[in-house]
Amino acid sequence: MSFDPKSDDATSRDATSDDAANFDAKIDRAKIEGAKIGGAKIDGAKMEDSRKDQFSRRGFLGVGSAALAAGMLSNAAGQNSKQDSKPAPPPYPTKGDKNSSAPGPGNPAIDAQNPDSFLPPQTDAGGVQTFKYPFGISHKRMQEGGWSREVTVRELQVSKSIAGVDMRLTAGGVRELHWHTAAEWAFMLYGSARITGLDADGKSFVGDVGEGDLWYFPPGIPHSIQGLNPDGAEFLLVFDDGNFSEYETVLLTDWMAHTPHDVLSKNFGVSEQAMEKMPRREKFIFQAAVPGPLAEDLKATSGSLGLSTQDFAFRTTQQAVTKRTKGGEVRIVDSSKFKVSTTIAAAIVTVHPGGIRELHWHPNADEWQYYIAGQGRMTVFATGGRARTMDFQAGDVGYVLKTLPHYVQNTGDTDLKFLEMFKSNVYQDLALSQWLTHTPPDLVLAHLGIDKATLEAMPKDEVVVMPK
Ligand code: MN
Ligand code: MN
Repeated sequence: MSFDPKSDDATSRDATSDDAANFDAKIDRAKIEGAKIGGAKIDGAKMEDSRKDQFSRRGFLGVGSAALAAGMLSNAAGQNSKQDSKPAPPPYPTKGDKNSSAPGPGNPAIDAQNPDSFLPPQTDAGGVQTFKYPFGISHKRMQEGGWSREVTVRELQVSKSIAGVDMRLTAGGVRELHWHTAAEWAFMLYGSARITGLDADGKSFVGDVGEGDLWYFPPGIPHSIQGLNPDGAEFLLVFDDGNFSEYETVLLTDWMAHTPHDVLSKNFGVSEQAMEKMPRREKFIFQAAVPGPLAEDLKATSGSLGLSTQDFAFRTTQQAVTKRTKGGEVRIVDSSKFKVSTTIAAAIVTVHPGGIRELHWHPNADEWQYYIAGQGRMTVFATGGRARTMDFQAGDVGYVLKTLPHYVQNTGDTDLKFLEMFKSNVYQDLALSQWLTHTPPDLVLAHLGIDKATLEAMPKDEVVVMPK
């Protein structure tokens, strides 16, 4: 990525002949140094070209290979005329170049969604472990009352510290009473639900959650989720263990189905006959009647101990945005705000069109991502000359190993919204700008070949989403 601080300004204007001259100079320098330089695709000053290029690639891929070829040619012509009819030497296989042609079998729909795999940016190199998995190709476990699907370390090999589940419940649909060995953090994607739990002191918790709200249940704390009117809910569950599986939780009905009725009779001090209709196997998700008013459930569950003083739910939208810039905004929710969430920290990020979640890394934990809306691309620099860019859209999971540098660009024309999730009680990140502007300037200049004015123009504090 460019270290030119003007690069973000440049996103809003077309290439000028000055830019073209700079571009040629960079290409020449690249040739001399034998180095790979981003050129028009990645260099910040050419970001606008990069985005146009990407759109045309997407459009082209979407309509088949003949049209693709035509599109490539016309796009190449357009760029040449913009650059003062001075044809830049192709720095890297481009769309019209025979080196990038793919005459064998292919899947145009997959290619169109993954333009940075179809034709990687010039700065990508080497074997970086795959860090994307779409929920759309997970097995969907269909039930009366809803469904669930999961992305775990079995689907996405790199994701060892966190697993995710996408779950749908109809109005009245129940994710049955259960618990698990991992902690559960959740984000309500659509609709509303009633959640119940029992805290470690044996006190009851019941709460209603709506779109954008969160909840958290520690390991071993029993809980349930039920869809409310009018149309139930869909939500994302995040577990602090990549090896988690929804198929391996402690379920009330599963437990009862595997306990003799005479034992249950003795345990509860009731007749064995009363156990006759106990389920013979687990329910997991099932359809039930929509629950009544919350107040009634609270009254019915308070018992002699009273209700839990812990709040297992968190109303994200009632919390101020942590940081807002021209490029977007971020809400950070960790245990400093959401007290019960002691093993999972989150950032809810919005990147406006043309914006970038700045170059940064997380010193304390792997990052598990869920893309909620829009289109983006993430590049992960994986050390040893390796870097990879992958494309994301709503419903995709992304992953970045602890400490690896990365950035996320909005490649669409609507807001890109995603979750950054960490197995940690605190959210931590460091930005490249922050690092460079808090290091002796001469030392930085000696590394990067930039001038002092450029360094001084860089953001001094973490911006999170550029432009400032
Ligand atoms: Mn659960
Ligand atoms: Mn990150």
